[in-house]
Amino acid sequence: MMMLTRMKDFVDKGYEVTVIGPSEHHYYSGMGPGMLGGTYQPEEIRFATRFVTEKFGGTFKLAKVSGIDPVNQRVQLDTAEEISYDVLSCNLGSQVPEEMVSGPLDDIFLVKPIEKLLDAQKRIRELGSRKDIRIAVVGGGPSAVEIAGNIWRLSCQPEMQKVAISIFAGRRLMPHHPEGIRRRAFESLQTRSIQIIENTHIQTIKTGQVVDDKEKVYDFDIIFVAVGVKPSRVFAKSGLPCGPNGGLLVNHYLHSCDYDNIFGGGDCIHFQEKPLDKVGVYAVRQNPVLVHNLMARLENRKLQPFNPGGSYLLIFNLGNETGILYKWSILFGGRLAYLIKDYIDRKFMRTFQAIE
Ligand SMILES: Cc1cc2nc3c(=O)[nH]c(=O)nc-3n(C[C@H](O)[C@H](O)[C@H](O)COP(=O)(O)OP(=O)(O)OC[C@H]3O[C@@H](n4cnc5c(N)ncnc54)[C@H](O)[C@@H]3O)c2cc1C
Repeated sequence: MMMLTRMKDFVDKGYEVTVIGPSEHHYYSGMGPGMLGGTYQPEEIRFATRFVTEKFGGTFKLAKVSGIDPVNQRVQLDTAEEISYDVLSCNLGSQVPEEMVSGPLDDIFLVKPIEKLLDAQKRIRELGSRKDIRIAVVGGGPSAVEIAGNIWRLSCQPEMQKVAISIFAGRRLMPHHPEGIRRRAFESLQTRSIQIIENTHIQTIKTGQVVDDKEKVYDFDIIFVAVGVKPSRVFAKSGLPCGPNGGLLVNHYLHSCDYDNIFGGGDCIHFQEKPLDKVGVYAVRQNPVLVHNLMARLENRKLQPFNPGGSYLLIFNLGNETGILYKWSILFGGRLAYLIKDYIDRKFMRTFQAIE
């Protein structure tokens, strides 16, 4: 987003900037579960990527990157077009692994890309206004908690029949978070009759069914897959040096360890000095360094190193206008936590959306 707002600096210096993306908008994940639950409208949580690019003199290509040829400095698109570059900024994000899904994705929703949560909302409304439905959320981390909590919010709409929500949390809900967070999340969901199934590992997901590792079959109308994320596969496919999960391996200048004109940030990279959590906070912290280094590389100036910084603020939106806030040793739940998240998220959106 920062590169987009600074694009004019590049264009004014005579550089051609091409932005490639599969959608004319980019949806902000932090508010995605809230959009699913109906707290936010889609237009409140998205950035007008094409509009901003063109406004500042760049070129927007509606396409997906399918490969990178680092030797000839070309990016391949799924439209068969190729774009050449002097410097490349990779911000391809991450995706939910689909390995456990068999067959088509009918009534199965991966929690990324975020815009798909809008389709999920429509489908829940469509089915749930006609009959009682059962919804499964496969995964036990923060996104599973936020998704389940916000489905509950949607199910409170007057036109909805009974919606039974189950979370298949693997070994346990939120296993990588402090006990205080886990307990608050658990209690909040359980109080709302959301079923939390622990010590059960789902092996296969297909339309209408999830199957656990003991081959027990559970029937559902709609299934969400929130089993974590993996970086874009483009880098591994292109033969670029990658981290263990396939993220673009970058050094502390945020450029590829082999190609100093290929930069990257956010979920799609593997930071060589230490693996970073897949949270938007790091994408945001990397932004100014990334923008600086892209220009510095073009002008043969000194690059800036990226410092990941210390601990970051975590706030979960539980879907009933309460949240859980955690930073350092501060941990509390309730309405204040939700209001702080809502304030921060809306402010973030205004910072980048204001230019539309
Ligand atoms: C449900 C959910 C809620 C979350 N909530 C929070 C939160 O509250 N706070 C937080 O810090 N983190 C949160 N996260 C994590 C957060 O989503 C990521 O860490 C963050 O989005 C990373 O930003 P990014 O720009 O790297 O990737 P993304 O936001 O994933 O953006 C990647 C972009 O690249 C585009 N793209 C993908 N593939 C291609 C391709 N081949 N060619 C061209 N373009 C492509 C996508 O369309 C997308 O626009 C949440 C994640 C989920 C799933």
